[in-house]
Formats: sequence, structure tokens, C-alpha cells
Amino acid sequence: MTKVEEVFPPEALGFNPEELTERYRHERDKRVRDDAESQFVEVTNDSAYANKYLADDPYADPLERDPIRDERDVIIIGGGWVGMMTAARLIQAGITDVRIVESGADFGGTWYWNRYPGAQCDIESYSYLPLLEETGYIPKLRYSFAPEIQEHAQRIGNHFDLYKDAVFQTWVTGLDWDDRSSRWVISTNRGDEMKARYVCLGTGPANRPRLPGIPGVDTFKGHTFHTCRWDYEYTGGSPEGNLDRLADKTVAIIGTGATAIQCVPALGESAKQLYVFQRTPSSVDLRNNSETDPEWAASLEPGWQAERQKRFGETLLGGPVYPEFEDEGWTRFVRNLQEMMAQADDIPMEEMGELTQLADFKTMEQIRSRVDETVKDPEVAEKLKAFYNQFCKRPTFNDEYLDTFNRPNVELVDVSDTKGVEQITERGIVAHGKEYEVDCIVYASGFEITSSYQRRIGIPIHGIDGESIYEHWDEGMRSMHGLMAHGFPNLFLCGGIFVFHLGANYCYGVDVQAEHVAYTISELNKRQVQVAQVSAEAEQRWVEDQLSGDGPGAVQLILGGQADSCTPGYYNQEGTHERYRDVRLESYTKGLGAYKRVLEQWREDGELEGLDLTL
Ligand code: NDP
Repeated sequence: MTKVEEVFPPEALGFNPEELTERYRHERDKRVRDDAESQFVEVTNDSAYANKYLADDPYADPLERDPIRDERDVIIIGGGWVGMMTAARLIQAGITDVRIVESGADFGGTWYWNRYPGAQCDIESYSYLPLLEETGYIPKLRYSFAPEIQEHAQRIGNHFDLYKDAVFQTWVTGLDWDDRSSRWVISTNRGDEMKARYVCLGTGPANRPRLPGIPGVDTFKGHTFHTCRWDYEYTGGSPEGNLDRLADKTVAIIGTGATAIQCVPALGESAKQLYVFQRTPSSVDLRNNSETDPEWAASLEPGWQAERQKRFGETLLGGPVYPEFEDEGWTRFVRNLQEMMAQADDIPMEEMGELTQLADFKTMEQIRSRVDETVKDPEVAEKLKAFYNQFCKRPTFNDEYLDTFNRPNVELVDVSDTKGVEQITERGIVAHGKEYEVDCIVYASGFEITSSYQRRIGIPIHGIDGESIYEHWDEGMRSMHGLMAHGFPNLFLCGGIFVFHLGANYCYGVDVQAEHVAYTISELNKRQVQVAQVSAEAEQRWVEDQLSGDGPGAVQLILGGQADSCTPGYYNQEGTHERYRDVRLESYTKGLGAYKRVLEQWREDGELEGLDLTL
């Protein structure tokens, strides 16, 4: 058998793996902070930041209405993809008394709130946009921009008649199980008291923005907003750009994650001066967007979308690279790996980890070389290069971002050495002891995506005997199928983070769960069940299975060993992996395909196994 280093010596690779390993470690170590997740300010509904960064809706007029006191079969909390897909699958299963309660003034969830210029789905729209076949829609572009996505959310709302029962501009403030009536009681910020036999929690992972806890964050006297509440009143323009009111403004943006990569080009184009404060660069690969080919669209056969989603997931998890994904940025790593495997087909299995690492190095070298090709100033180019494995952070794809740094009015301020921005003052931002005076600070500082469930959801949930679900999860998220928890009957924890790790295409995982929830509720109805809860034993079995399972490919990269060598971010709880156990319990480590089969098998058995039922 041949050894990896014999097939791929550094001269042949064009890079030195040992040097890169050392560089990655150095870049990680300089960013890890002792305060980990607590470095971020929580934007709870009752915090000082709540109105400005969470509750105030820049896109809609305030709503006045009387409190609602009624009862529905199913109440879904959240009108984004999770809530809408769950509602659609319920309606298809014949359960029609379904109300969605949503904080925005329309459907869309993250796509309602995130209207920043350049916002775009980074998974191809044919796989990402839900229910395309059901609604008879084909996206105009391979990667849709936010307005088209929002429109599609409305299309789903109309198609499934979800508007007639929906309640908008309403924040749920509490969920309490009432033992006597066997109903959930849903309280809201509008004094509502709605009752429901079933509740589906569909608040999604990007529901709560977070702010960096930079000293002085609340002292700045200029204008501020978070990217998920874009203030077009202040900037002018629209999601298409042309932010004309910034022509005489000096603007700072804090953060260079997936959001900033998309909106920095528009800011750079319009602002008098733009400072981009970067702690960790993103990997920015080619986008290569294209218009949908009408001939291809006309050739699609029924069932095409589910098939495409499945194939996309298989490719990402290291399966065959299907022809339709051969030029897809997300598959660059898999393509590199498979090419290298073909060159070294007799290497021993125990060296596969080494080969995988080489394929990752190669991928990132290709992405780093794009920076040199695009950015004219070599010093700036060097700072824009990401030195970590590709899936340590959300990979990004954009054809304008890097070029923005060639503009004379755009300056990159690297704050990696100080583990972030040092201070915010009345006038601006301090980095390396220098004060940058600005008119406006845009926070592209992300969301509570993998923070504790309580912080992420922000809704108190009390089940049988008033037990708090967060206390139930003191030692990690306990559930069966990641969907139902013991002591919390008739409650489905849809979406959340649970399916997030299973593949990059969040919507596909959400739909797998939505179909399962629809089946379960319709089966419970058929059997005239009043209360269904997971038994303690079934919950324990699922927990043990989760903790013992080893996952493949990308799942392992995110959850497993590499997370500890990754640069900090929300994927690894800011480099600490403090809640590694939690994260494992929330994810199905064997991947989405395997998860889907487990749920299908459970449905085929038809026993509702693991549920204690009260007729
Ligand atoms: P992220 O959490 O990815 O990024 C937050 C940014 O803020 C990081 O660059 C972070 O730096 C920076 N930051 C935080 N604190 C400080 C500080 N004290 N000083 C300086 N910088 C700081 O949020 P995003 O909104 O960019 O993305 C969140 C997720 O939303 C994505 O990962 C993706 O899943 C999703 N998304 C999807 C899109 C799509 O196309 N479908 C588009 C946009 C977002 P550091 O990395 O060093 O922590």
C-alpha cells in the first residue's frame, strides 16, 4: 500500500501541509476568547436592546388589534420556512384548523426580516426554495435574491390558504401546558390567550439577532442597525442596492460572515467611506449565478425537486457528485477529495483522515488564490485570506465582495489581534488604539444560531406539572426523533437547530420533519388520541443512540474532532465546544438520509412506538 505523503509530496501539492497546520492553529489560538458565547449581548424581548434590534419592524406600520382568546387544533409558532412547510404538510394530510403566529407582518421568517442589499440564498434555489412543485414555480435564477424568495413565501401562503388563519406582528411570550383541559395555552405580547391541542415550534435558527458585547456598545451617538432590520429610511435604496442616502456618510460594518459578504458590495458602492471591521475572514468562493434555462425547466418531471434535494445532500456528504452539481461551489471540497482518492486508490483506510485534510487544504488554497487574483493591494489580500478548514465556518460565495476592497473609499480594518473591536465610543469605533469616526455602524454580527436553546428561542415553555423545558434539558436536549420531549405532550419541536447540521440545505431537513409531524398528528386524530407524549424510556433510548453514533463527512467535520481545531464561531460555540453534548443531542449524526429512513421506518411500523397515548 502507498502512503499519502508518497503520492502527494509538498512539491506536487504546491503547499506545505505542516506549515498550513501550524498556521491554522496560530490563527485559531489568537481568536479564542475566554468569554466564548458570553461575549455577545443577548437581545431578549425585555432587554434594553429589544425594540431597536428585535421588536421594531422597519418594514411595516404598527398594528392595533384586540387580544385573541380562542382555541385551534394546531398552532404553529413562526411563519418562516419551518412553520409554512409544517402547515402545508398538515393541510395536505387533512388537518386544516391550523394557525400560524408570526412576529413579522408577513410570511417568510428570516426572509421577511433579512432584506439587506444583496441578500441571496447561497444554496441553489431549485433545492432550497420549498414546495416548488406544489406551487408550480420555477425560480428565475440559480441563486435567488431575497425579494424573489419573499415573494415565494407569499406564494406558499396563498397556495395553502395560510393567510386566512395567520396572526402577524405578534411575539409569543409563553407556552404552558394545561393539564385539566389537555391544551397548550399560548400567551403573546398582545395579551392573547390562544389554546391549541397541538403546538409546533417553528422559530428557526436565525430568529434572534445578537450584538457583539463591545465595551461602549451603547454609547455611540450616531446611527446603528443590525443587518436583519436594515434601515432603508437611513441608507436609501433597496435590496437591489443604490443606497443613495449614504453618499455623504462614513459607515462602519462589524462582522464579515455570510451576511456581510453579501451586503458589503452595496455599502462600498454607495457610502462616502466604508470601514469593514474584520475579526475572521470568510472563505469567499465563486458564485457564478445564472438565469434558469427555460428548456430545462420545461423538461422537469414530477418529483424532480425531492430527487434533486436528495442528490444535493448525497453529494455534499461525500457521495457521488451528480452532473448538475459539478460546477457548484459547495462541492469543490468533495470534488477535490474524490480526485485525490482516484490518484491514491490503494492508500490504507487509516490514512483517509490525512487525505481528507489534504483535500481541504487544497480547496482552501484555491479559494485563497482567488483573493490574490482579485485584490490589488497584497497586504489587504493577505488579510482577506481564510486560514481554517472550509467547514469550520459557513462557506460563502460572492463575485463582488473581494473586488470591493479595490475601491478607494473602502478600508479593511483587521481586528484579529485584539480578538475583536476594542471599543465603541460616542463618535465611532476604536481599533489598535485608533478611533474611526463614523456616522453609522451596521452590525453584521449574526444570530443566536447555536446558543443554548433558551437563548435562541426566548420563549418560556412549561409542560406537565409546570416543568420548564430548559430545566428538562439541563444536561443536553432530550427528545425522541429530535421532535418530542417527555413531559411536553402534543408539542413538536420543528426545525430549530436540529436539522441544521444534517446538510447545508436546511429546507430539505425541515420538510422531512414536517411530513413526519403531519403523519403523527393525523394518526393521533384517527385514533382519537387526546394526549400523546414520549415515554421516558423512549426518550432515553434516543439520547443513548445519539451519543453513541458516529457521523459521516460534513457532520463529523462540524461536530467532531476538527471543531476543536477550528477558528471560533457559532459552529463550535466560539471555539470552546462547551455544549458539545447538547449539539450532538440536537443533531442526527448519521446524516439526513439516515434520519429520514428512521422516521419512515417508524411510520411504516404504524405503532406510534415510544408514545404514551391517552384517548
Ligand atoms: P455570523 O455569525 O456568521 O457572523 C458574525 C460576524 O461578526 C463574524 O464575522 C464575527 O467574527 C463578527 N464579530 C462578532 N463579534 C465581533 C467583534 N467583537 N468584533 C469584530 N467582529 C465581530 O453572522 P451572519 O449574519 O454573517 O451569518 C449567520 C448565518 O446566517 C450564516 O452562517 C448562514 O448560515 C446564514 N446566512 C445565510 C445566507 C444565505 O445565503 N442563505 C446569507 C447570510 C447568512 P468572527 O467570525 O471572528 O466571530
